[in-house]
Amino acid sequence: MLYEPPLFRPPSEASSLILQVTLGCSHNACAFCGMYKGKKFRVRSQAEIMADIEIASRFDQGVKRIFLADGNALTMETQSLLNLLKHLYNYFPELERVSCYAGPRDLLYKELDELSELRMAGLKLLYLGVESGSDVILKKMHKGVNANEMIQACRRALDAGFELSVTVITGLGGKEYSREHAQATARVINAINPTYLAALTLIVVPGTPLFKEVQEGKFTLLTPQESLQELKWLIEGLEIDNCLFRCNHASNYLPLRGYLKRDKDKLIYVLDKALNEPGSIPLRPDYIRGL
Ligand code: SF4
Repeated sequence: MLYEPPLFRPPSEASSLILQVTLGCSHNACAFCGMYKGKKFRVRSQAEIMADIEIASRFDQGVKRIFLADGNALTMETQSLLNLLKHLYNYFPELERVSCYAGPRDLLYKELDELSELRMAGLKLLYLGVESGSDVILKKMHKGVNANEMIQACRRALDAGFELSVTVITGLGGKEYSREHAQATARVINAINPTYLAALTLIVVPGTPLFKEVQEGKFTLLTPQESLQELKWLIEGLEIDNCLFRCNHASNYLPLRGYLKRDKDKLIYVLDKALNEPGSIPLRPDYIRGL
């Protein structure tokens, strides 16, 4: 099975079989993202996908999870996705879960019935980048939707029965919008109440429009302490329940993990300690942070 690089998957899909059903990202416009910049988006043909499934199934050693790469597999026609899911569960008898990245527009374009059908057919978990709840920041970053559309899209996924894992990016508003970013993002996440929430920390990728803005002095990055302060504002504003919160990505200065709302006070306590007693909790140095 030959992959067409670059290939990305969420950290929690490390032991999944990765199947490329699309190449690149159908949106490919976010100002901070360099993931698929040089890759022209297309949905792979049925023949290409089936050839990969055939090869992978020959070496099947009890595949339980499959992640559909690249970006936005949900862009595919619903019927093609339903056929694909059927094949996957036939070829891999021990398969328990299929997951993929989803863009907010993909969710808004599909009818709720279509989404429910996909869920029933075994597509169980969707990963979606909310990034920010601020309309100003979403627009500046060319996310392609506003905060209300983001909420609507995510609620549709949850209403259709999917588990939903969303990411937000601390520092995405720079110094200028730090407080607004935290507060607006908390409001949007509260309205969504996702299954999983991950907070990444902004890393500016060379070659992206945001990198250019930083170089030109139009966007001021947060210091590690300011980034922790913003994270604290975000967590303080969260009122969600039954949500696993993770902030243990390689981009983060301070690894945190807990269930919201049960562990909210504990998370704030750790952040307070890191903020008020610098050095008491070691932060991940910039040179080993990564995406
Ligand atoms: S952040 Fe996601 S949606 Fe935006 S360009 Fe990158 S891969 Fe595409």
